[in-house]
Amino acid sequence: MQLRFLHHKSNEFIWKMQLQPDGGAVLSHWFSPLPAAAAVRKVSVTSKGRTVGRVVVFVSPNRTVARLLTKGPHGGDQLLGLAVGRRIVGTEETQRIESGLLLPNGNPSDIRVDGQDYRAVARDLGSTSRIKLIVLETGSSIDSTANTARWRVMGLSFALILALLAMAYTMSPSIARTRVSREERERSERVLAHVGDGVFLVDRDGVIRLWNPAAEAITGLRSDALCNQAAAETIPGWTEIAARVPVASRPGDADDASSAETVPLDIGGREVWLSIVGVTLGDGIVYAFRDVTRERRLEELRSQFVATISHELRTPLASLHGAALTLLDRESDLSGQTRRDLLDMISVQSKRLADLVEEILLTGQLDSGSLRVVTEPFDAEELVWSAAAAARLRADDDTTIDVSIPAVLPKVAGDPGRTRQVLTNLVDNAIKYSPEGGRIELAVGADGGYTRFTVRDEGLGIPLGEQKRIFEKFYRLDPDHRRGIGGSGLGLYICRELVRSMNGRIWVESDPGKGAAFTFELPIAERVTVSA
Ligand code: ADP
Repeated sequence: MQLRFLHHKSNEFIWKMQLQPDGGAVLSHWFSPLPAAAAVRKVSVTSKGRTVGRVVVFVSPNRTVARLLTKGPHGGDQLLGLAVGRRIVGTEETQRIESGLLLPNGNPSDIRVDGQDYRAVARDLGSTSRIKLIVLETGSSIDSTANTARWRVMGLSFALILALLAMAYTMSPSIARTRVSREERERSERVLAHVGDGVFLVDRDGVIRLWNPAAEAITGLRSDALCNQAAAETIPGWTEIAARVPVASRPGDADDASSAETVPLDIGGREVWLSIVGVTLGDGIVYAFRDVTRERRLEELRSQFVATISHELRTPLASLHGAALTLLDRESDLSGQTRRDLLDMISVQSKRLADLVEEILLTGQLDSGSLRVVTEPFDAEELVWSAAAAARLRADDDTTIDVSIPAVLPKVAGDPGRTRQVLTNLVDNAIKYSPEGGRIELAVGADGGYTRFTVRDEGLGIPLGEQKRIFEKFYRLDPDHRRGIGGSGLGLYICRELVRSMNGRIWVESDPGKGAAFTFELPIAERVTVSA
């Protein structure tokens, strides 16, 4: 309605209300000036605190009354009309009251109109109105004996008509108001349907009264299953959550992001983290929430990373420090073999530190997109043989490293250095996560337009639910190093990003406790034709 006023030339909308025989009312637009003897209600419409127009509803009393009762409540010689000041307004004509006074509140009085004596009963139409509804009966037809009783009965019927008119009259602004508020409500509903934040309303009795589409999308809980249900019974863990969520008394107070509470919601085994605030409303609390699951996970990973890196740094640093001190303090007392062992330890641990720094740097480059990857044809067989040979040097006696290569293999299109890095990483993991040793196989083969590299071990394996997540940055199955196997959680992330940058893909298949098989595939550079 506000918009209609803002965009419309007129600042007044007039509606005419016609009472129906069934007691209902019909509204229609009225474009002419208001009739003189109308019962009128006006409602101002405001927008941003400014009055932009008025909605006017009127009841045309003489016609309405004429339709309701043409002959008065009891028929016979009674007449029904309206008195405006000292004029009697009928459906046909207007007459002056020549003598006598109309008494208020339905008290009968005697008046003379157009040379005729009448007994009249009048009622005010509204407190500010000069209009009165009147019933007249000619003086001659008044039976003196039944007089008092008849007028009392007539007063009652009269009160009934008046109640009806008064109802219509008082209803008119509420019809206008309902229209305005319905449009406002529809607009609010549209806004609520399109905001990205979940919004819901819990009334004083703890019953959910509104659950917007964003709330459905974030939680997966449907509005029709929740609305008009107790929040404690439908929102998992609501009682504990409600106790933690800050509730502001004004919307502005809740704007402060620091006042929002981050709470977990367990929806059928899926954990959703919500940042949620509440604002009191007259008859309940409106809650607004945002999905912060991703941010929360990143935050968890970040703190996990700090813990992992600190651990990864501490171990080699302690070894380096110890070996260097021993060599410094007691070099002359040490045998040649011990000196070589210590130097060997320094070499291994400083390599470990250098590798860690390299991993962190590489991750930064991959994240920023600044890593250069070349694409050239290279020989997969050669790469696999040399990777296996290098791994044998690092593996202990319990581990065997086998290679499986078909007779004919096409060249791969990719970066040979980066492919070697991926393969080395996977073989190192296979050794690392096979504490009991076992067989590790490096296999390569062509499949469609791709060359597949597989590293298969008989080690710890990976639970099904974790097989995707291990490729995430910083993700480790054993973040606290309980198994005593170190690592930054960056290796597989780097592998995945490198393979992707060479237009390939990587995945794992595993039987927990029986081993894992990591496979990555890269596009082939050329087709080979096998001659007989
Ligand atoms: P890390 O530096 O911890 O080895 P990675 O990104 O290389 O990091 O591996 C992520 C996690 O995946 C490891 O912490 C480990 O739990 C698991 N993982 C990787 N390779 C294997 C494997 N061959 N067998 C079992 N688990 C593995």
